Amino acid sequence: MVPTSACASLIMIKYCFRCKKIYDTENNICSECGKKLVEHPAGESPVAIITTGGFELERVKAALEDEGIPCSVQEARGNVNMKILNNADNGENIIMIPLAAYNHACDVLIGIGAMKPQDNTLTVPDDIKIENTDEEMSPRKRFWVRAGSIVLFIIVVWLAITATDIGIFLVKKLFAS
Ligand SMILES: [Zn+2]
Repeated sequence: MVPTSACASLIMIKYCFRCKKIYDTENNICSECGKKLVEHPAGESPVAIITTGGFELERVKAALEDEGIPCSVQEARGNVNMKILNNADNGENIIMIPLAAYNHACDVLIGIGAMKPQDNTLTVPDDIKIENTDEEMSPRKRFWVRAGSIVLFIIVVWLAITATDIGIFLVKKLFAS
């Protein structure tokens, strides 16, 4: 057994690409679909946080968006019978949020009563973040990105000028003939 520690970075999170679910299991295989779990999922990975429908779906979406958590909605598959049993309009949908926003999203959902505190059994480690933000770029990398964009800009301008020249040439040729 692995000794439990207070250190947050030791929390293990595994991710199933197929089910869009996270686990803190010792297993390497998803308990639902049998796919191999990813050990260090990216912060952008979509995670299914809650399955809901109808007005509740809109309420949950609005609450998440108010907190600046990007979310997407995916229709739940394989519950056709449930749809018929409940209400055809109340099709169940899965709300997806980025893995990095998981803890925050759980707090929001518990706050609005959409999720029970005991349902939130996982904590995503702090080191799982959404990459590609400017703050995380080193000065050296930022320099090269800027230098690259300047070169790109010059090429685009040059292409535009060349294209205009060719255009003028063609127009002149058209009217000359
Ligand atoms: Zn799975």
